[in-house]
Amino acid sequence: MATQTLAKPCTAVRRDDLVPVCPYCETELPEIYLRKPQGPFGMGRGFVFFCPHCRKVMGFAAQWYPFPLG
Ligand SMILES: [Zn+2]
Repeated sequence: MATQTLAKPCTAVRRDDLVPVCPYCETELPEIYLRKPQGPFGMGRGFVFFCPHCRKVMGFAAQWYPFPLG
């Protein structure tokens, strides 16, 4: 995926050989779930990521590309 961010607060090291672990249920996560939260204007801003096992929210991400809001 072509993720472009303007600000890079730290160096990102790609480690496709490591599997993330859920900080809540400590299950290894070969995949995580994401969905768009529903906003009051019919569109969500960005995505919410959550664990497929315990469904605890692990974080939010901004829109993957600048979305013109008029
Ligand atoms: Zn979990």
